[in-house]
Amino acid sequence: MSALQLPGHPHVHYQHEQLHVEGCNLKALVAAHGTPLFVYSKASMLEALAAYQRGFAGRNARVCYAMKANSTLAVLQLFAKAGCGFDIVSGGELARVLAAGAQADKVIFSGVGKTRDEMRVALKAGIGCFNVESEAEIDVLNEVAVGLGVQAPISIRVNPNVDPKTHPYISTGLKGNKFGIAHERTLLTYQRAAAFAGLKVVGIDCHIGSQITEETPYLDAMDRMLDIVESIEAAGIPIHHIDFGGGLGINYNGDTPPAADALWQKLLAKLDARGFGQRQLMIEPGRSLVGNAGVCVTEVLYMKPGEQKNFCIVDAAMNDLPRPAMYQAFHAIVPLQQTSGNAATTVVDVVGPVCESGDWIGHDRNLAVQSGDHLAVLSAGAYCMSMSSNYNSRPKAAEVLVDGAQSHLIRQRDSFADQVRGESLL
Ligand code: PLP
Repeated sequence: MSALQLPGHPHVHYQHEQLHVEGCNLKALVAAHGTPLFVYSKASMLEALAAYQRGFAGRNARVCYAMKANSTLAVLQLFAKAGCGFDIVSGGELARVLAAGAQADKVIFSGVGKTRDEMRVALKAGIGCFNVESEAEIDVLNEVAVGLGVQAPISIRVNPNVDPKTHPYISTGLKGNKFGIAHERTLLTYQRAAAFAGLKVVGIDCHIGSQITEETPYLDAMDRMLDIVESIEAAGIPIHHIDFGGGLGINYNGDTPPAADALWQKLLAKLDARGFGQRQLMIEPGRSLVGNAGVCVTEVLYMKPGEQKNFCIVDAAMNDLPRPAMYQAFHAIVPLQQTSGNAATTVVDVVGPVCESGDWIGHDRNLAVQSGDHLAVLSAGAYCMSMSSNYNSRPKAAEVLVDGAQSHLIRQRDSFADQVRGESLL
């Protein structure tokens, strides 16, 4: 039988009726590493990056991978080697990217709650830019930089009040969100910042939300940003780079976000038309680089038919795949062994073993499975492992990166010792 591709997942396919990531049969990876098991396609990550790089060909642009999407060291190493900078939001993320081989001057530091310690460490490392998110943060960063006898390079994150038309929990550029500085106050804030000895204004930044599947919010946010840049520069403060954040969506459930290169063609046309085409550009994509590169393989433990619901209880749970519980997010779920078209299916809720009714992975799925079978939860490369926890004292899952027919274990499954490290009995 020829390979059957899964829509939106360029390197996940059935071959001889068995699910593969690139050239690796997931059944064999499960036999070697157990479940739950995250498996990522290296080619898929690099192709997603290449779409941005194509879009920016000939431009002065930097892709800063928003590592919160997937912060496993080998994934960071892959993007560092491919020339990426990084968008970080904590001292822990800074330590991770540096350990993975990133250059500090290609790292930008976002986030509304940076501590003095985090600022100090980032300044000593020679960070590329702080994306400052409040007027209070400006004062503190200035103090910390003056204390170290350096100048902190800064952009101000503008909240452009543009609706990204996504889930409210992942919308970040609206007036009611905690992120950025209201666009009406931006000029004043830049004027204050420019007067501080410890700060050096280098850019401007915005990030309006995540899983954005339409181009209009980006075009609107860009117009608003460019208006602001014009007013700041008219006040005598040069803006060297413009950072448009991340947020481009992926296909989870028939979603049709624009391709990165096509979207950027439109955005660059606007930049050119407004005379900003030669400005240094930065973007901070996360999900669109890694989301559809990953699957999470899980074993069916029990089938539990009920009066109102049938449950398919699997060994992955909300601690491994938190997005459904957090945002009612959809992940496609497919069997490792392809079933024939006439196999009897049952409508089931796919749920994990965690003691919460919110611990579900998929509602009302038509599946032909029994205990001992394996399922793959798709689109599990972003905001899954990086958001995972040890809730219910469950070990964090193992992760494998596939490169053609080769597979590399890039994270071992947690042991009990891993889970209790740092704890002590009275
Ligand atoms: N930049 C910032 C400041 C963010 O908060 C996020 C995610 O929330 C991103 C970039 C990456 O977003 P996405 O993964 O949707 O591309």
